[in-house]
Amino acid sequence: MQPDTRCLHAGDTVDPATGAVMPPIVTSVTYAQESVGEHRGWVYSRANNPTRHALERVVADLEGGERALAFASGMAATATALELLDSLSHVIAPNDGYGGTYRLMSEVRPRSAGLVFSFVDCSDPGAVRAAIRPDTRMLWLETPTNPLLRIQDLAACAAIAREHGILTVVDNTFATPLYQRPIEHGCDIVMHSATKYLGGHSDVLGGFLVARTAELGDRLQKLRSMAGGVASPFDSYLLLRGIKTLAVRMERHSANALAVAGFLAAHPRVVRVHYPGLPDHPQHALARRQMQGYGGMVAFEIRGGAAEAKAFLAHLRIFTLAESLGGVESLAGYPATMSHSAMTPEARRAAGINENLVRLSVGIEAASDLIDDLRQALG
Ligand SMILES: *Cc1c(COP(=O)(O)O)cnc(C)c1O
Repeated sequence: MQPDTRCLHAGDTVDPATGAVMPPIVTSVTYAQESVGEHRGWVYSRANNPTRHALERVVADLEGGERALAFASGMAATATALELLDSLSHVIAPNDGYGGTYRLMSEVRPRSAGLVFSFVDCSDPGAVRAAIRPDTRMLWLETPTNPLLRIQDLAACAAIAREHGILTVVDNTFATPLYQRPIEHGCDIVMHSATKYLGGHSDVLGGFLVARTAELGDRLQKLRSMAGGVASPFDSYLLLRGIKTLAVRMERHSANALAVAGFLAAHPRVVRVHYPGLPDHPQHALARRQMQGYGGMVAFEIRGGAAEAKAFLAHLRIFTLAESLGGVESLAGYPATMSHSAMTPEARRAAGINENLVRLSVGIEAASDLIDDLRQALG
């Protein structure tokens, strides 16, 4: 089956007890046991829940992993993935990744777990190789990167990590499993903020870890059960519902983003556009090879600086100035003081996140309305 079909039919979620086409929302926290230790596999909802399990089967199928685990948020998933590591382990992570991931890795885990992080430009496999130390245990990737839409070479990075016995984790939030399947490129764990495209409607927080092997899946499931950051039954239902329309939404997001990127690239007030679907993106060839589509995120640099970027944002009418991304409605953000405010100005500069940078989450409205809005706001 094609991925588009699997969004609807993966996991065979028809309820065997009733034939319900959408799985029921099972709110019970506990389950009756026939005798001590004898039960039907459901014991306590922090460990396992039928609605969550139905969702997890769909996502495991879409990513091509043995096991998927649903979390209350993307950050809960990230926090649990880091629990795989012993204290004093070294982790390599991108210097232009999601701001919340950077905050957890730079402010919390060095203090609470003794983890040591190197933030490098992971779009350069040579830089990844150079950052490896004897105590390196995890390579954290995120591609396309946030907010600059750089592309990391999953197969090359996973091969380097494997040579050294290092686990590769990929934040696949921007691409979704429809446009990029890291496990097929040799990576070990896929992470998602399901809050974004998987949910798709800006009305549910969620996260995933998908494990290449059952053994890794078991270890992660135990850690999740102990740390407790599970997706609720109702949120699991909303995510199942969102994934049904993922393929049609992604098609529209991508087509609109390409149109918006093309418009911006030709506009005299725009200095630079970052979108992997544009032929002049420095890694367009790699994106074509590694991805099946380019997604709905576009960043661009406006002529001028912070003042010009903020004036542009203030004039938008259809794009809403807001955090987050991946919902059906178009959003705009200012990375320097919004999504990437946790970075120091020096770290932002080193990563190329300039004061004139604007990030767009291009929604599924009519492309002509979105372009009209951008044109009037550029003035
Ligand atoms: C939003 C986001 C996260 C964090 O997910 P939450 O669901 O907000 O906890 C992680 N990575 C990326 C790329 C994101 O966009």
